[in-house]
Amino acid sequence: MTDYDVVVIGGGPGGYAAALYGASAGLRIALVEGDAVGGTCLNRGCIPAKAQLQTAEVFRTANHAGDFGINPVDGSGTFSADWGKVSERTTGIVDRLVGGLSGLLKRRKVEVIRGRGVLTPNGEVSVDGQAIAAKSVIIATGSEPKSIPGFEADGERVVTSDHSTRSGTLPKRVAVIGGGVIGAEFASVFTDVGVDTTLLEALPGGVLPIGPDQELARTLAKSLAARGTKIHADARVSPPERTANGMVLAYETPTGSDKIEVDQVLVAIGRAPVSAGLGFAEAGVEVTDRGFVVVDTNTMATSRPGIYAIGDVVETPGLAHVAYAEAIVAIKSILGETPVPVDYTRVPWVVYTHPEVAWAGLTEAEAKEAGFEIDIHKYKFSGNGRAMIIGETDGLVKIVAQKNGPILGVHLIGPWASELLAENYLAVNWQALPEEVGAFIHPHPSLSEAVGEAMLAFTGRSLHG
Ligand code: NAD
Repeated sequence: MTDYDVVVIGGGPGGYAAALYGASAGLRIALVEGDAVGGTCLNRGCIPAKAQLQTAEVFRTANHAGDFGINPVDGSGTFSADWGKVSERTTGIVDRLVGGLSGLLKRRKVEVIRGRGVLTPNGEVSVDGQAIAAKSVIIATGSEPKSIPGFEADGERVVTSDHSTRSGTLPKRVAVIGGGVIGAEFASVFTDVGVDTTLLEALPGGVLPIGPDQELARTLAKSLAARGTKIHADARVSPPERTANGMVLAYETPTGSDKIEVDQVLVAIGRAPVSAGLGFAEAGVEVTDRGFVVVDTNTMATSRPGIYAIGDVVETPGLAHVAYAEAIVAIKSILGETPVPVDYTRVPWVVYTHPEVAWAGLTEAEAKEAGFEIDIHKYKFSGNGRAMIIGETDGLVKIVAQKNGPILGVHLIGPWASELLAENYLAVNWQALPEEVGAFIHPHPSLSEAVGEAMLAFTGRSLHG
């Protein structure tokens, strides 16, 4: 008997978005989740990490309040971070969002089934031995932190983002292994709240070596280094040795080898899909040797008819908002509609470091590699009035466009780059001409004027550029 139209395995952003969107389209949905709904992103990823980054922002602002003419009535005028309180605040935010999501699922009549969902060879989902039949299945089992031999996480000395996002204590000295998105965000938080922070990245460059335009990555590395992060690129790290006072970590770089003593090692070397032991291959769902479920991204269908996969378990950008978009594609396919597939070359990326990094579309290097003849215009926030007013003038807007053609990529680093990305994302995805965007009015004074100025520059004329 078919009880449901769709059973979704995994209640993270991919899974809950599929459930909510499917239910809003009238489908009967079961959502299988062994833990709190919201998955990694809500419970131990994006949301708590950004709450900590906001704490770092408040810390910076408080300690620079004197620059704005705000002085303490008495006392030293410097501030310290109470990480127990930070953790309490974070938990409050997470709990409110988990509660809100649970309510939303209930109102849409999504049945949340507690337990571990496994595919059976006949294509059903079994939860603790109980089979749940449905016309379609969506796999949204997500990903988990990768580990390095000798760096097994114990949750105290050696940790992953799973621990650091929810910890109630701060280490005094930390080594962050991996300068990718997670490593850069944590290095930014730790550095700004006064933790002695060393970042060790295997690739040249040191910070965000893969992904953003490297001009942005260099600007971020410079800012982190100026605030105190010790960045070592091209680093080979040996497993930590425990000492009476902490841990000693040996590493080699092209310039030599060294050792540091730290209290904690945060391993942030990437995430791996959660697909082992869930019956996928036995059910005829093709999985790569790295554990990703193979899909046709036009529909998110797997190799077994009726079974779909979305989110971090498929080999597309590991971003919650990409999982949301893939959920809509999968549900539309199940409904027999013709979904517009996600254009993975133009998804929005944001790294919530200080300063924030945000981009969509091709980098300068990617555009050249793709054979485009390009034009580039930039505008620095140091020339923007609003940036001066808020006291954050580091960074720039960089627009990559085809010569006499549409915008190929937008690259931002600086204050509120995360929010400024929205207009730029639309421009890239609408394949707008830079002069079209430059002709639109940007409010004055605003950070978005930096975008307007960079776009206007493509006309060969400018206002303040
Ligand atoms: P990542 O792939 O972004 O970065 C991992 C980094 O670790 C790479 O630079 C890699 O060269 C380096 N590395 C690998 N092995 C190493 C080693 N042995 N020693 C030193 N460095 C090593 O992975 P991540 O930062 O762990 O993030 C995982 C996922 O989470 C990504 O898919 C990311 O998109 C997602 N995420 C996104 C956001 C965001 O969008 N703001 C925030 C957090 C996480």
